[in-house]
Amino acid sequence: IHDTDTKMKHHLSEGSFKNRYTNTINKPFSDVIKWAWNRTKPEPIHFQHADNDPQFLKENREHRTLTWIGHSTLLIQYGGINILTDPHLSPRASPLSFAGPKRLTPPGLPVDDLPKIDLIIISHNHYDHLDRLTLEKIYERQLNNPPQIFVPLKLKEWFLDLGIKNVTELDWNESEKFGKWLIHAVPVQHWSWRTPWDRNKTLWAGWVLETKGFRFFFSGDTGYSQDFENLGKQFGQFDLAAIPIGGYEPRWFMKDSHVNPEEAVLIHQDINSRYSVGIHWGTFILTDEPVEEPPKRLLAVFEKAGIPEEEFFVMKHGETKVL
Ligand code: ZN
Ligand code: ZN
Repeated sequence: IHDTDTKMKHHLSEGSFKNRYTNTINKPFSDVIKWAWNRTKPEPIHFQHADNDPQFLKENREHRTLTWIGHSTLLIQYGGINILTDPHLSPRASPLSFAGPKRLTPPGLPVDDLPKIDLIIISHNHYDHLDRLTLEKIYERQLNNPPQIFVPLKLKEWFLDLGIKNVTELDWNESEKFGKWLIHAVPVQHWSWRTPWDRNKTLWAGWVLETKGFRFFFSGDTGYSQDFENLGKQFGQFDLAAIPIGGYEPRWFMKDSHVNPEEAVLIHQDINSRYSVGIHWGTFILTDEPVEEPPKRLLAVFEKAGIPEEEFFVMKHGETKVL
């Protein structure tokens, strides 16, 4: 999968990108209407925060920890650095401050309680993953010591326009060093959009973060595809993976770009991960499954398949696990 022939296959001549294993992500407008028309929005449910210790997280450079802040935002402390995935700590996942999907549960850590962030990885430009407010706040807090931000191809310009520097842009299967880490952008099956004019003009990606003794996969948003079997073959095994378990209904509309809990477990198995954490649920209502359904369905898969529950876990908002 490294030869130049397949390497450029996701680049289209008009300057946009496509997936490797499906061409059906671009839904016709009539399908969008059909979904919106028949939509039964789930009931909002507000989750209880876990107790956490921001002071410990701020001072900690020694213990390895994982904190779920909400949605796809994880704080990982490993090897003396603090990593954030798709940081979204704002009240809405929307271009507008007064409309659009509203946060059900406040972020597990507010921006002011974050430790100094060394590394941020961004999967794609959808509003629930790329949040201008959060990124600006983090950047302002660390003007003299800004985090390095890894983004998929063509997304660097968005940051430069905001005056945010220290951005590394990678294509699928490109890698770059960061301190003692090697960071790889890898293909997943999704799409991109921020305005009516920019559909698939910036790339989407999963990220592999490797350092001595630890290999982590952050999938961003993705449908289920051959990409994960490839990833498993390429890297052999993972210590931890963050895989979405929410955002899947209605299936006829969402299946190509969002896995359900059953498919999330297939990814966990395809990539041979020791542990996985379920993300992308319980924070914003973006799709039609009941808000509390994803972890229940995940549990049902384990019971059926005899997989130990702690192998693919979910966390409370704000919960910290020591790895
Ligand atoms: Zn998305
Ligand atoms: Zn999403």
